[in-house]
Amino acid sequence: MIRRMFDDMLEANRRYAADFSLAGIPARAAKEFALVTCMDSRIEPLAMLGLGPGDAKIVRNAGGRVTPDTLRSLVLAAHYLGVRRIAVMQHTDCAMANRTDDEFRSDLVAGGGDEAEDWEFLAMPDPDRALRRDVDAVRACTLIPSDIPVEGWRYDVETGEIRRIIPA
Ligand SMILES: [Zn+2]
Repeated sequence: MIRRMFDDMLEANRRYAADFSLAGIPARAAKEFALVTCMDSRIEPLAMLGLGPGDAKIVRNAGGRVTPDTLRSLVLAAHYLGVRRIAVMQHTDCAMANRTDDEFRSDLVAGGGDEAEDWEFLAMPDPDRALRRDVDAVRACTLIPSDIPVEGWRYDVETGEIRRIIPA
């Protein structure tokens, strides 16, 4: 039964809830920080920045790209959730980097997904250029207050270090 495939997680949650300690934390970001980053399973956004629950808003997707939906989250975070500084953090060895949308499209079409022809995957054939474009997209968003600094970072999945590529 497919449902059983999720039982390990929900069982773990019962243990988590049994000594839950985060009740009452405000929804506003205590460190006034929002991070846009990749969904990569090697990234621990809170731990790597010395943050804990309640400190920051984390917006994740494939590549850590700035899309209309990323901007939607950042606009709301800036206006309602106390965010006053934003970083876009992409990373080394990203599955989206050094590839093109055409490669993703032809893979998926070859696997029978004809509708992939019309999809935009936001691959990053040139990672530096992609990061620049994404930081610029946040800075250019007129619904994000212009006094909010925006930086571009790259995380090294082998060393744990973050490099500041585009300073605020
Ligand atoms: Zn990635």
